[in-house]
Amino acid sequence: MRIDVVSIFPEYLAPLELSLIGKARQDGLLDLKVHDLRDFTTDRHRTVDDTPYGGGAGMVMKPEPWAQALTAVAAGRSEDAGDARAASDAGAAGPPGSAGKPVLIVPSPAGERFTQATAHELAEEDQLVFACGRYEGIDERVLEWASEHFTVRPMSLGDYVLNGGEVAVLAMVEAIGRLLPGVVGNPESLVEESHSDGLLEYPVYTKPSSWRDRDVPAVLLSGNHGKIAQWRRHEQYRRTAERRPDLLVEFDAGKLPRADRTAFSDLGYDVVDGRLLRRPDA
Ligand code: SAM
Repeated sequence: MRIDVVSIFPEYLAPLELSLIGKARQDGLLDLKVHDLRDFTTDRHRTVDDTPYGGGAGMVMKPEPWAQALTAVAAGRSEDAGDARAASDAGAAGPPGSAGKPVLIVPSPAGERFTQATAHELAEEDQLVFACGRYEGIDERVLEWASEHFTVRPMSLGDYVLNGGEVAVLAMVEAIGRLLPGVVGNPESLVEESHSDGLLEYPVYTKPSSWRDRDVPAVLLSGNHGKIAQWRRHEQYRRTAERRPDLLVEFDAGKLPRADRTAFSDLGYDVVDGRLLRRPDA
């Protein structure tokens, strides 16, 4: 997979050189380049923002540097921002998206929510481009223009406001990158994680079995794999009901075995038409 990130703070993306994502880049599993938006400005001060039309607080990111940058990174597949700029200036690579539309992800608190399902979906793409906004965001016309050449997806990390898109990109690239084949050593560990099956993960423990008067649940030491699997499933139900009951609304309970229905019943949920319904008295 190819990923391009455009930002006015390229150094903010330095953590993507570390750990599993850094190793994936070294191993050639992920081709990730970070570009400085200011390299695509034409004035002496390398200006990327201006005052908002209609007045109001804050500054807005100017459209032309974004058009230059996005044209270059999408079309040029360049090795660095300098090359990308040259490709854009020369018009050498033609319009972006001419060989299949790359996905342009625009981090925004006003975007669709980024979830584990989104991460799986985006991990199937050949090329992702991330446009990191700052200030009050990017001139809206950039997204309209870009949609001719990219599949544009404004995307939110959650219902809060960050100072810029970089932190959101770090999170999204990590979530997507770890799903690429070969990035995580044991692919089994991706299957049992929180959100992989619409539930939160069960609690985990390691040695010693007794620590500061707290014992690991006995079933985990029993060696009975059937019982361990059932305990873990029921812990997933308990934890999800306690911490994220909103997730249970979408949970498909139609094929749950009797013991699992009982576990949900103990938590105050009945299975009705394959869905979990919280009992009013629970
Ligand atoms: N005025 C914008 C609004 O209310 O929608 C917020 C701008 S915010 C201060 C600056 C930039 O941070 C945004 O353009 C976006 O790139 C990023 N950002 C802020 N919150 C975010 C979130 N929850 N998810 C993704 N990106 C976010």
